[in-house]
Amino acid sequence: MIPVNEPLLVGNEKKYLVECIETGWVSSDGPFVKRLESDFSKKVSRNYGVAVCNGSAALEVALASLEIGRGDEVIVPTFTIISCVSAIIRSGATPVLIDCDPNTWNMDVSNINKYITSRTKAIMIVHIYGLPTDIDPVLKVAKDSNLFVIEDAAQMLGQSYKGRPCGSFGDISTFSFYANKHITTGEGGILVTDNQELAERCRSLRNLCFNSKNRYVHQEMGWNFRISNLQAAVGVAQLECLDEFMVKKRSMGEFYTSRLSSVSGLQLPVQKKNSTRNIYWAYSLVLDDSLSINAAELMRKMADLGVGTRPFFWPMHKQPVFQKLGLFKDVDCPVAERISSRGLNIPSGLALTKEQMDYVCNSVELCLG
Ligand SMILES: *Cc1c(COP(=O)(O)O)cnc(C)c1O
Repeated sequence: MIPVNEPLLVGNEKKYLVECIETGWVSSDGPFVKRLESDFSKKVSRNYGVAVCNGSAALEVALASLEIGRGDEVIVPTFTIISCVSAIIRSGATPVLIDCDPNTWNMDVSNINKYITSRTKAIMIVHIYGLPTDIDPVLKVAKDSNLFVIEDAAQMLGQSYKGRPCGSFGDISTFSFYANKHITTGEGGILVTDNQELAERCRSLRNLCFNSKNRYVHQEMGWNFRISNLQAAVGVAQLECLDEFMVKKRSMGEFYTSRLSSVSGLQLPVQKKNSTRNIYWAYSLVLDDSLSINAAELMRKMADLGVGTRPFFWPMHKQPVFQKLGLFKDVDCPVAERISSRGLNIPSGLALTKEQMDYVCNSVELCLG
């Protein structure tokens, strides 16, 4: 089976892990955690980094650090991973869902003003699959209406928007280091910001809000969302390879596009928007309505040929768990609804070989032929 994602661990990962073991530094107090925070925040042009145990935890800490909670509304795309919306709900705030753009699959920001109320406290940008969300309109409305911007850049490390790195736009921006992300620590994540006070709040929240003067006397509740030195060691090594990885990801995506553009009935990722080249975190196919097959059927056929695939996100307003909570009854997002049953991701991990990619393309042709 060709896996939909396999990471590449061919740099200093082993060397740094051995260093952890030989020095005895395995916990979150080890030196690689600080090194990862400092190297990573520099890479995305931020002043501070706070590493945590995963990207979902990073979103929870981001909301808590901005004191978002009951009575507040947070604008967020419906076409995203559940982590974004579950973090908002757990904070006590109400998610306000927006549909996505039919070409980039990112949040459609053209009418974002329409969603702002007196209770809106923040906009959560989530960059999807390979191109950044159109950030300028979000920053403008956030400034005009005095809102926070939380940027979930988990899929967009290494990408930029108008010459600035993704992850440099939010009051707080977050990343995940899960195994299918551009760099991985197995499990892990990070928050980045330019605001020292926010960074310190995040640092405290990830570590149970221990008190610096009287350790076990707490003014607030936090979480144990710490990352270990072992994970951070892998992250430091991975980060050293990021530029190389980005060249590889782009060339993989461009290879897929050159091979698959002759297949009729397929919508492929937009190669370039304004001056931004797609980074193809996930290489996506959306099946035209003219094809009788849907994404689930194509995924089954591809599996029979030994090719792993991944479904598109399922829109948040269609999630049984949220419907049971009585949420999102009147939400109508036709684009997200359509692509969720017509779209899929094909293998695009960094360890994928040219031969495997050839086989994936042949399999797509065979299944749709
Ligand atoms: C992967 C991902 C997350 C969650 O990260 P975990 O580390 O798996 O918790 C959050 N947001 C986006 C956009 C992601 O792609």
